[in-house]
Amino acid sequence: MKPFDYYTVTSVAQAVSLLSKHRHKAAVLAGGSDLLAMMKDRLEGPKLKLPAALIDIKGIKELSYIKEQKNGVRIGAGTVLADIASSELIAKRYPLLHQAAGQLGVPQIRNVGTLGGNLCQRPRCWYFRGKSFANCFRKGGGTCYAPGGENRYHAVFGGSNCYIVHPSDLAPALIALDARVEIASPKGSRMVPLEKFYVGPDKNILGETILGPQELLAAVEIPAPAAASRGAYLKLKERQAFDFAIVSVAVNLSVAGGSVGQARIAFGGLAPVPLRAVKAEAGLKGKALKDAIAAACKAAAEGAEPLSQNGYKVDAARGVLEEALLSLA
Ligand SMILES: Cc1cc2nc3c(=O)[nH]c(=O)nc-3n(C[C@H](O)[C@H](O)[C@H](O)COP(=O)(O)OP(=O)(O)OC[C@H]3O[C@@H](n4cnc5c(N)ncnc54)[C@H](O)[C@@H]3O)c2cc1C
Ligand code: SF4
Repeated sequence: MKPFDYYTVTSVAQAVSLLSKHRHKAAVLAGGSDLLAMMKDRLEGPKLKLPAALIDIKGIKELSYIKEQKNGVRIGAGTVLADIASSELIAKRYPLLHQAAGQLGVPQIRNVGTLGGNLCQRPRCWYFRGKSFANCFRKGGGTCYAPGGENRYHAVFGGSNCYIVHPSDLAPALIALDARVEIASPKGSRMVPLEKFYVGPDKNILGETILGPQELLAAVEIPAPAAASRGAYLKLKERQAFDFAIVSVAVNLSVAGGSVGQARIAFGGLAPVPLRAVKAEAGLKGKALKDAIAAACKAAAEGAEPLSQNGYKVDAARGVLEEALLSLA
């Protein structure tokens, strides 16, 4: 590892003040399960620099909690994933989030990894993670290796100049639940729908979120579930013991009087950002669930643009969505 300055902080105010001072040279260190791996591997590129200052937020007690509030549940960004996976409150109110957290990584990862780190983790594209591919666009270089290379795990939607898929299991689950995130900065804080927190490569090729260099993800707020709502999270992975999703889907529906009221569907593993399936959602609304499944699955895969080796993901997306909807019907 290269040398770096290390700061421990005990408040959000201290953290954002240090971020503001060091800006692009600093990185937030939470559980370290992603960041330290990248630093140990010395992943660098023309615009991907190893951090010169680490701001360790593990000592910020105000970031670690799961709280029920009047309009839903609030989870601090420093909460470890194991606490979310084992929370009775989450299991009762948001079964699909409980299912997503339980399928994420292995116990060791869930014990150190945090909610904020999971939502802000960097992509797993093997060219991005490979030291020999420093010229990748996402590192500030001049090419994308995926279209002409090994691309079986890459994006089938929204690629254009970079074909990463967002690796988080919690992001699609929370987007299906219509969660918002609180972003803290030295000027105060702002709330943003989680869906708008992520940006594709057309907007920012060097990062995956809207976070500025002086900003910290502080919390996630999930609205109270709608009456008669039901949800499911399904994840297709190659290695059953533990793995990132080839395709995952989070479905959150409300069904009343035999027909679907609200519907939110988000996919993981298909696009550079967690992908809302708005056409499939529209196809379900107002219909008897069982009768609308086939058309919704067809609509979900419309517009896909597979690369040479990942066309199977289009069928897989239809398949996991069908299974999730059947489980809820
Ligand atoms: C073997 C293995 C298997 C895995 N399997 C899965 C899986 O199946 N599903 C899945 O979803 N993930 C999986 N992961 C990824 C894992 O969930 C993440 O590494 C973890 O959640 C990151 O959390 P952390 O607290 O350790 O983050 P860190 O490593 O500390 O940080 C990760 C990134 O987020 C930034 N960051 C952290 N917290 C904040 C914050 N509050 N505000 C702003 N920026 C922040 C850091 O600067 C860094 O860029 C796996 C990882 C490993 C190593
Ligand atoms: S998909 Fe993105 S991260 Fe991967 S090689 Fe292409 S530009 Fe780089």
